[in-house]
Amino acid sequence: MGLTLAIIKPDAVEGRRVGRILAHLEDEGFGIRAAKFVRLDEAGAAEFYAVHRERPFYEPLKRFMTSGPILALALEREDAVAHLRKVIGATDPAEAEAGTVRALYAENKERNAIHASDSDETAQQELAFFFSKRGLMGAG
Ligand code: GDP
Repeated sequence: MGLTLAIIKPDAVEGRRVGRILAHLEDEGFGIRAAKFVRLDEAGAAEFYAVHRERPFYEPLKRFMTSGPILALALEREDAVAHLRKVIGATDPAEAEAGTVRALYAENKERNAIHASDSDETAQQELAFFFSKRGLMGAG
């Protein structure tokens, strides 16, 4: 079994789509091993998205991700990282495959409802960003 990190983003929390997204993830076989509502501050968003700091969308992305509460999730499933990437769909909901979380619940390329770790290495870093080892005990 593997663990990955998902974040339900401010657009989906504000739009009251959390319950439907969690149901979608559970229906895809993910177990929710930890969950935490967080309001990222500027420093937190900068740290989390440091890999994107040279991108043109870095500043708007930080503004968006600090605009309201987010729900961080530790999700467990066989092949968790790859499967979650498949289930969320392409970054831009207009290009996301039908039935994916972003096709169903995202607003646009920035306000796209959900984040998912893109590799096992990133998943470990991103899980550690939000959750203590103790908080994840028994998972993985
Ligand atoms: P992801 O792995 O599919 O989430 O996509 P990326 O790692 O490339 O980008 C991280 C996040 O930045 C995305 O999920 C979007 O919220 C945002 N983003 C990506 N590309 C763009 C863009 O071209 N414009 C804007 N405004 N936001 C973007």
